[in-house]
Formats: sequence, C-alpha cells, structure tokens
Amino acid sequence: QGSLVQESPQHICHVAVEMAPIAKVGGLGDVVTSIGRAVQDMGHQVEVVLPKYDTINYDEIQGFHEIESFEWGGCTNRVFTGIVENVVVNFIDPSNGMFSIGMIYGADYEPIPMMDSERFGFFSKAALEFLLQSGRQPDIVHCHDWSTGLTAKSYWDDYHNFGLSTPKIVFTIHNFGYGEAEIGAAAMFSQKFTTVSPSYADEIRHEHCIAPYSDKFVGILNGIDPAMWDPMDDEFLPIPYSEDNAAEGKARAKAALRERVGLRNDDVPVVGIVSRLTQQKGVHLMEHAIWTALERGCQCVVLGSAFDPEMQRHWDQLELSLRHQYHDAAKLIFAYDEPLSHLIYAGCDMILVPSMFEPCGLTQMIAMRYGAVPVVRQTGGLRDTVFDVDHDRERADREKGIEPNGFTFEGMDTPGMDYALNRAIDCWYSDREFFHQLQSRVMAQDWSWNEPALEYLDLYYAAKNMK
Ligand code: ADP
Repeated sequence: QGSLVQESPQHICHVAVEMAPIAKVGGLGDVVTSIGRAVQDMGHQVEVVLPKYDTINYDEIQGFHEIESFEWGGCTNRVFTGIVENVVVNFIDPSNGMFSIGMIYGADYEPIPMMDSERFGFFSKAALEFLLQSGRQPDIVHCHDWSTGLTAKSYWDDYHNFGLSTPKIVFTIHNFGYGEAEIGAAAMFSQKFTTVSPSYADEIRHEHCIAPYSDKFVGILNGIDPAMWDPMDDEFLPIPYSEDNAAEGKARAKAALRERVGLRNDDVPVVGIVSRLTQQKGVHLMEHAIWTALERGCQCVVLGSAFDPEMQRHWDQLELSLRHQYHDAAKLIFAYDEPLSHLIYAGCDMILVPSMFEPCGLTQMIAMRYGAVPVVRQTGGLRDTVFDVDHDRERADREKGIEPNGFTFEGMDTPGMDYALNRAIDCWYSDREFFHQLQSRVMAQDWSWNEPALEYLDLYYAAKNMK
C-alpha cells in the first residue's frame, strides 16, 4: 500500500533505556529489539544506544568490548559495544555512576540523591553526544517513551546546527501514563511520533500535549516474535502443534497443564489469565470473571505477578475464598514464570485480558498464536487485534482482512465482562466444533512484525523527507 521500502537503505539509531533480553522491564524492551531486528532484516543498518547498567546480563551480549570514551556532562563517558539478538548495541557508561545503582528504574524511591528523570535526561543527551563525537550521521534517531523524550528537543537545540546535522527524529510512546512533560517536548520536536496501536493513538490524540501535533502522530501496532512464541518449536510443551493438529496439540498441553498445577482431568473449559496484577490490567474484572467461569463449571488458571503488597494480600484472600467454595477448580500462581506461561497459553481454551487501558498488549496475540481464544475488553491494541465473532466480522475484514477471532466487551463493569465470557463458554459447551475451528483460525493469523516493520520503514522515509 504505497510502500516506499524500495528506496535506499537507511541508518536507524534507537535511543532507549530498555532492550530485551539484557535490560528488560516491560514491553518497551521487547519492542526495541524486535523493531530493530525486523528493520535490519529488511536490509537497513540498525544500532541501539543504551545505558550501561550494572544489572545487564553480559552472557547475552556477543563480542562485548570498549571502543572509546568522551568527556561530557562533567564526567568521562566510556562507550562499549556488542551484539544483542543480532543488533549492534552501544553502551554508555558515565563515571558519575548514574547507571550503577542495581536497577533500571526506581532511583526515585531509593535513598539515592538522584531522580530517574535526571538520570535518563542525562542519558538522552549523552546519546546524542556519542553520535556527534563518534562521527555518526544516522538518517533517523528513534527514541522511546518519556525516558528518552528529551533527545528530540536537545537534538534540535544543541546538535543539529553543531555537527550532527543529518538525523530526523522519530519518537514512540509505549505508555502515555508516565512523563507527560518529556512526552510533550518530544511531540513538539520530533518529525514523526507514534504509539503502539491505532486505537490507543485515537484514545490519547486529544491529550493537550499531543493534540497540537496530531497530524504527525500515528499508531503502529506492535507484533510478537514468531520464533520466541512458536507452538511448533517450544521446549515447554508436550508435543509440537500447528493449526493443522491444534486439537491434539492443545489437548496434550491441557493435560500437561492440569497435571502441573493440580487440576482434575474433567471435560470442561480451562480459562487462563497471564498478567501483571495491577489496576491497568482490570483486576476487578479478572476477579469477577473467575467467579463466573467457576459457576459455569469451568476451571481457571491464573499466573499473576503483583508488585504491590496490598494487591497481593487481596489476591491471597481471593484464593482462600475460591478454594473454600470451589475446592480445586481454580489455581492461582503468584510468580513471574515464563515457562509456565507457555504451557498456559497452549493448555487453555480461552485467555482473558480485561484491561482498563492497553497501549498494545502482547498477551492476546501470544494467546492466539497458541490457539487460545482471547476474551478481551475493547480498548487500545486489544481492539485492533481482537474482533468479536458475533459483532465485528465486517470490521475485521475491513481493518485486517481476517475473520473475527474472539469475544469482546465494552464498558468497565462486570456485566460487560460476563457478556463476553458467557458467550465464549456457551460456544465451548454447545458448539465444540466451531470452537475448535476458531482455535485453528486464530493460530493461522499473522501477528508478527512483518507488517509493522514495513509501516515503520514508511514512517522513517516520511520523517527523513520532512524539513
Ligand atoms: P504489559 O507489558 O503491560 O505487562 P503486555 O501484554 O504488553 O503487557 O505484555 C505482557 C507480557 O508479559 C506477555 O509476554 C506475558 O506473557 C508476560 N507476563 C505477564 N505476567 C506474567 C507472569 N506472571 N509470568 C510470566 N509472564 C508474564
């Protein structure tokens, strides 16, 4: 669709404070690595500039070595380089010790006289200084989230007319919930700025720091890494499966999951949740949905990570009540457990994602790749990836050229949640054949980076051609 990707190769330099798997806190880290690699695979030159945290896992970096240093910001900045997931990464290590505090975020809460905004503000400029001093002239500097928002302004104020003249700035908002001041500056000074799904873009477009620049703002959906999430090649599953043998593969995974968490082997649906347990993720709707599912004879598996002790206490209490009333039909596991998450996606019939807001969301895409039918609240990236089988056939075809693939609801209250979940459960009980077809259908849909990477490339060319 009017793609300009035939044009000359681009040099893209990402400036970010997270990168998976060496310095990952959330989705931002995954996205930097995936976009970088996807665009590089299309024949472009990609580099990342990252702080050299003391918490980095060096086993995941190939050929790590020091390349140079520069004096700036009142200290000596050593620069190291290495390859992460095939992408070149340059690490900046200032002698003021800002990134040697045992964590990526969180200085604000520790007895350290330094705020995250100060540390990342420093890094946002140090990255530009590195580009200047090393003689680089990338076509695009792509910065991410509030933490590197200052790069955009600093570039036009302090670098563009002073030797680092070629780049144009692209800025991506991964979560609008943090750092509005930095986001506001980046919106003004970037040539293009994006967020991680079209619907989330529409939801935040009217915000006062975005609205004036709305015409250069677009939503580009994230993808998932099909090699990392591949039921045909997944060491955590009992047998490999694809959409062609989904029924068998998922039945085996369901049995393995039940054995692993201690659920009986009954002929009932298994409903799953894999999530951080925060208000953003719609915990009150999750809780309600678990009760509804159990009332209707389903089993439930929840893999949840709570960071807030009060939230954890609440879920501990909920677990007791569930056990009291439904004995062993619900299993709640409070941990961050990636291997178990794979088995849950594979072994569950449906996965719930009732987020209050969701910039993109990966859970629903991973679920589909493993043939678990998503039951989601219609918001942000969930709306752009899950289309209700009863209501969104036309929109699914128009927006994505696909058949509808899940059950959705609007609103923030429990009847909405029940409306979607009950239809999914009805479908499982009364039309098992259709439910199995639906599972194969969602597995065949493409939620990889193939398309998003092309959209980013078009955006890079458009930014490059702006004044
Ligand atoms: P967010 O980044 O806001 O948490 P996403 O849906 O974008 O939400 O990404 C969530 C990712 O984290 C998914 O890969 C999901 O499988 C994983 N995840 C969330 N909670 C857990 C957990 N407790 N254990 C293992 N993986 C988890």
